[in-house]
Amino acid sequence: MTKKRLVFSGPPGAGKGTQAQRLTEMLQVPHISTGDILRDAIARSTPLGVKAKGFVDAGELVPDELILGLIRERLGEEDARDGWILDGFPRTVPQAEFLDQLLLELEQPLELVLALDVPDNILVERLLARGRKDDNEETIRRRLEVYREQTEPVNEFYQLRLQVVDGNRPPHEVTVALRKLLEVEPEPEHA
Ligand code: AMP
Repeated sequence: MTKKRLVFSGPPGAGKGTQAQRLTEMLQVPHISTGDILRDAIARSTPLGVKAKGFVDAGELVPDELILGLIRERLGEEDARDGWILDGFPRTVPQAEFLDQLLLELEQPLELVLALDVPDNILVERLLARGRKDDNEETIRRRLEVYREQTEPVNEFYQLRLQVVDGNRPPHEVTVALRKLLEVEPEPEHA
């Protein structure tokens, strides 16, 4: 059976967004990126955006009180009933504990945690080439630190549900490896 309730983990620049987008098309489930939600809120200057902006610009994590309610609401929406790909959440062990509790309430167990592994020097190169507003050298360094300090422990929290995938290779090869782990059924040979 294809797995459809996934957390996508990995440092900034590992390719989570690209791969999550591909999987969301294959699996027909929503791609829920807390970074995208925050950037959209900031662009529209919503109350959430106004509160989040300083943290995002500095490469710091946004406080849980801004994130947890948003996840609870989003996972309760109709299109999230049959699965989802979470990208950028959970970022801390308390967020992971919150998610486990929420999924218990929703009776939607998490099926797999995918972590893309890429060495730091490659991440910095990729992020500088990407050029998002929070992709300047100082903020990048801080985001990588935050990842190692606060987000990497989440991988230990997930241990048995975790699959680490080498993200330091061409995107297509990463997608093939992910498909195997998700047990996506092969395309029928004849249409
Ligand atoms: P991303 O697009 O996932 O790299 O996220 C961009 C920025 O949004 C991060 O550097 C944080 O400032 C903020 N952010 C995204 N997701 C979270 C989260 N789960 N918890 C706290 N802050 C987050």
